[in-house]
Amino acid sequence: MRNQVKILGVPIDQITEEEAFYRLTSFLEGSTVKKVYTPNPEIIMMAQQDEALFRVLEEADLVLPDGIGLIIASKIKGLGLKERVTGIDTMDKLLTYCGEKGKSIFLLGGKPGTAALACENMKKQYKGIKIAGFYHGYFQGKDEPEIIEEINQANPDILFVCLGAPKQEKWIYKYQHQLNCKLAMGVGGSVDIYAGTAKRAPILFQKLGLEWFYRLAKEPWRIKRMMALPKFLIRVTLKE
Ligand code: UDP
Repeated sequence: MRNQVKILGVPIDQITEEEAFYRLTSFLEGSTVKKVYTPNPEIIMMAQQDEALFRVLEEADLVLPDGIGLIIASKIKGLGLKERVTGIDTMDKLLTYCGEKGKSIFLLGGKPGTAALACENMKKQYKGIKIAGFYHGYFQGKDEPEIIEEINQANPDILFVCLGAPKQEKWIYKYQHQLNCKLAMGVGGSVDIYAGTAKRAPILFQKLGLEWFYRLAKEPWRIKRMMALPKFLIRVTLKE
């Protein structure tokens, strides 16, 4: 049974990290492409004005409560989200699982060279991991049939898509019926973390739910995008 809560109309799965992992591994045994997203408040806010994105999120097979803002919103409204489930931690668990079970992954996204570097590091970090392929994320529309073909030839179990939001969510939605994989998951900047070109916030920041603050300190130009967080909380508080 799938329990979801709605935050500003967007359905988010009411799930723990462990339950999410169980669900995701069961997707790997399925016969259709399962679509998984990891939205933060910024994306929920974008979806308020972007009907196409709203529908993409509505039709997902799993929506993980990634941003700490979603947990705060759930507390304010008493919605009962169980805990935060981050895309990067979930990806880490999936990669370990793939290494153990001989499953394969394809990494799509990041600047040219970054996905290759990330895959090299994954091979070192996750024993037994099968890298079916990778492709950078700065392609043009005309290249897409060739990219789909490359993914399908590689025949991965999991396709990790790192094109930034909302591009990655829309891309997965658009090509879901053409993709030959079991699970397509939008995981944003994870490719940069695995490549080592970006760093995760220190554990203390993660524990306090202050990763957004760390990222803002490192990338101050994000302030405009991040203003979505207070706006999001005000809107959630005021909504009936
Ligand atoms: N990215 C990409 N193609 C694009 C835009 C972005 O591959 O057209 C990559 C970018 O290089 C980065 C990742 O998407 O590795 C996530 O970007 P960002 O951190 O800005 O996205 P967020 O997850 O915060 O939305």
